Amino acid sequence: MPDKFRSQVFEPGTRIFREGEPGQQAYIIERGAVEISAYRNGETAVVARLAPGEIFGEMALIDDELRSATAVAVEETELIVIQRDQLMQPMDKADPMVTLLLRMILERFRTTQRQLSNGGAEPAAELLELDVRDGALDEIREQAIERIKLDQDIRQAIDKKEFELYYQPIIALEGGHMVGLEALMRWHHEERGFVSPVEFIGPAEESGAIVEMGRWALEEALTQNAGFQALFAKAFPDLPPLFMSVNVSGRQLISLEEIDNMVGIIEAAGADPATVKLEITETLMVEDPVHATLALERLKGYGVSLAIDDFGTGYSSLSYLHRFPLDTLKIDRSFVSNMEEVAGSRRIVRSIARLAQDLEMDIVAEGIEKTEQMAMLRDLGCTYGQGYLMSKPVPKSEIDELIESGVTW
Ligand code: C2E
Ligand code: CA
Ligand code: CA
Repeated sequence: MPDKFRSQVFEPGTRIFREGEPGQQAYIIERGAVEISAYRNGETAVVARLAPGEIFGEMALIDDELRSATAVAVEETELIVIQRDQLMQPMDKADPMVTLLLRMILERFRTTQRQLSNGGAEPAAELLELDVRDGALDEIREQAIERIKLDQDIRQAIDKKEFELYYQPIIALEGGHMVGLEALMRWHHEERGFVSPVEFIGPAEESGAIVEMGRWALEEALTQNAGFQALFAKAFPDLPPLFMSVNVSGRQLISLEEIDNMVGIIEAAGADPATVKLEITETLMVEDPVHATLALERLKGYGVSLAIDDFGTGYSSLSYLHRFPLDTLKIDRSFVSNMEEVAGSRRIVRSIARLAQDLEMDIVAEGIEKTEQMAMLRDLGCTYGQGYLMSKPVPKSEIDELIESGVTW
């Protein structure tokens, strides 16, 4: 029984669509056979005979042009109908580069077809007119070119030494002294000037460049931390050494080999793994929990500590928290920023804090900008905090100065 909503049956000899019509649907052949024919050099020629499992009619949906051929059922044929939305949704989500390539290939194919139907001669004037680029394609092309440039710039930036790490102090809410630092990447682009990580981390994750950037950041942060720790030991002889928090993209943890590379970097830097904290967002844990467990256990086995970043913003499935060897939970800035006004945010912070305590995890509250927030967080049982109230992320030299001054908050 064909499903009325998805499939349609065509009697032998029925036309499914005709060359030159606009098209809103593509088809997959369930059973039967379909002949595709096109008008060439004054006559109609069969260009393909399609069997079950084959897809057709998709071109007109992708580039929004007219059908370039006619499709006829040669025997009783059942077709699964694909609506435009179904086909376009994954296209919209695709990398602009992939979309550009697809559209360009189609555009070239159409041009060739037009020339063929014109007897192989140069396209007639009215056909050239059809060739005028449509705005949508231009936009995709521009986006893709921007993206290619950005990818290339990112890949060169490490060699050109355009990346720099800034550091933001993480403090104990009880006592107000520094306990660690978070390393945050900055990009000084030779033409564009300062580029925010919000603009380049995402693309670098997509292109894979983040893996190399992540290695660089880890090495750089740990090298600097040796210096910070030496100054800190002098200024605060009774306090434990500073830890260094480094952001790690899920993309870096996909291969176990890369994890071993990271461990190699930590060893080469001579850092005590106990003072290395890797900040990970929950994406990896949600998308591939089995692999994530393996990856995180491997890192943990080496003695580094692990923090879950931006907690509360993503899926935040509480059920997964206990499955992973996490030491620290970072409460996202969005809950902290209005907690002194919005009771709901306060309650969320309180529940997250309790949850973390039950799971014996440390808590870092992010984005503290006001003294009231700091006091409230302390009362709610948060151990650590960071935010503009204490310090914005600053270059290495300013951290040196802060430590040497013996600062507490
Ligand atoms: P994140 O890991 O959540 O880092 C915290 C962000 O909040 C930083 O933004 C920091 O400057 C900002 N912030 C800290 N305190 C306050 C505050 O009190 N108020 C406000 N309004 N903002 C505050 P930043 O440096 O722009 O970094 C943005 C994001 O880029 C980071 O978010 C992180 O996801 C990513 N990122 C930065 N560096 C790296 C890196 O080396 N590797 C990876 N994978 N991601 C990185
Ligand atoms: Ca972070
Ligand atoms: Ca964060």
